[in-house]
Amino acid sequence: MSPAWSFALARLVGAFAIAALVGYFLGEVQLTVIVVLAGYLALNFARLYRLERWLRRRRTEEPPDFRGIWGDVVALVMRIYRRKQFHKRRIVQLFREFRRMTTAMPDGVVVMSAEREIQWFNRNAARLLSLRRKVDYRQRIDNLLRQPEFSRYLSDGDYSQAVVIRSAANSDQHLSLQVVAYGAGQQLLLVRDVTRQIRLEAMRKDFVANASHELRSPLTVIAGYVDALADDRSIDPAWRAPLEEMHRQAERMRAVVDALIELSRLEASSGEAGNELIDVAGMLTLLRREVLALDRHPREVELALESASKLLGSEQEVHSIFSNLISNAVKYTAPDGRVDIRWWTDGAGGHFSVRDTGVGIAREHLPRLTERFYRVDPGRARATGGSGLGLAIVKHALQRHGATLEIESEEGEGSRFTCHFPLRRVAARTALAAND
Ligand code: ADP
Repeated sequence: MSPAWSFALARLVGAFAIAALVGYFLGEVQLTVIVVLAGYLALNFARLYRLERWLRRRRTEEPPDFRGIWGDVVALVMRIYRRKQFHKRRIVQLFREFRRMTTAMPDGVVVMSAEREIQWFNRNAARLLSLRRKVDYRQRIDNLLRQPEFSRYLSDGDYSQAVVIRSAANSDQHLSLQVVAYGAGQQLLLVRDVTRQIRLEAMRKDFVANASHELRSPLTVIAGYVDALADDRSIDPAWRAPLEEMHRQAERMRAVVDALIELSRLEASSGEAGNELIDVAGMLTLLRREVLALDRHPREVELALESASKLLGSEQEVHSIFSNLISNAVKYTAPDGRVDIRWWTDGAGGHFSVRDTGVGIAREHLPRLTERFYRVDPGRARATGGSGLGLAIVKHALQRHGATLEIESEEGEGSRFTCHFPLRRVAARTALAAND
């Protein structure tokens, strides 16, 4: 027991003992005890009243000057009150700093609940997304941002990348939106104005497309004359080798320009590829025949058609994917090697693979293989007439079909390139029967 309590108890017992003694001498023990009890009660009641009054007005009034146990209670209340004030001030200070920080941020930030209801947003988010303070609190974000790309992004649930949409208020403005999960199911929506980057990117694409188109016609003329000269028997034989080299280089330039034009076309076509019904078996049979007709090709080129299912997509783009992968396998495999082409379907979708026993690719090159002009061995790639753009085209065309590219390779052993098309791109059997 604390000293204050011991003292209060001792004082109470003492008061009653004195009251009983006085009552005994006066012959009125009961009365004196009742009087002392009433006095004690009245005193405590009065203190309780003052304490309650002070607690109500503690912001403006000084604490009552109690001693003993009541003084301890007042001191304890004061301590708790001061601690609370301190924490409150700290939280307010932190909140102000947080607000100042988010206001200074160049990006917009929206805090959302697990149900995607808006709980808070900063000034830039309000400006970029035309959100109204207070009015839009507790509204679902997908009710306010109705762009189809954003709805698809939310329903897909893959937030590792941002999605770019056009601003509803200004169609010239492009916004990048990315959801970041945090806490107990809560989410942040980060908003950034990427109009400038999109414009620069468009300018770059336009430049490459225009330059390639401009180069194509003069190149065709030069290649034509070089061809004619190479075939001209009256030309000095000393010129034969340089003319053949000029012809090879002109062909290489034409391959690069054609690939650049194809890549530009793919980049310019926005959204998903169309839904033409593609006869994969027929296309692959034809491609294999074309390979076997080449002067130089691996001895064995096998085709395994394990499914009769057709693909839904752009015929031209799918042809480009298959022919690029097959011609790479052929290019990088020796004449005594083997190339296996396979088409099959399962519960996950449609799959196409090309396996070769060629030169293979070292592990460190695999992640960069689909970059434009990336070549493992530039010397050999040039010698084989490669543009360095084939796999970039494949990747782009696959993306437009919602498909992915898997690359497995062992240096010196060979490679396998597999395309995985989603189930929605595989034509249902009924469609197949109707078109057969
Ligand atoms: P290229 O026109 O030079 O073949 P690609 O974009 O098609 O350009 O391929 C990029 C690089 O990837 C090639 O230069 C080559 O080094 C490597 N590569 C692609 N396919 C194969 C393969 N089947 N075997 C070995 N290396 C390959």
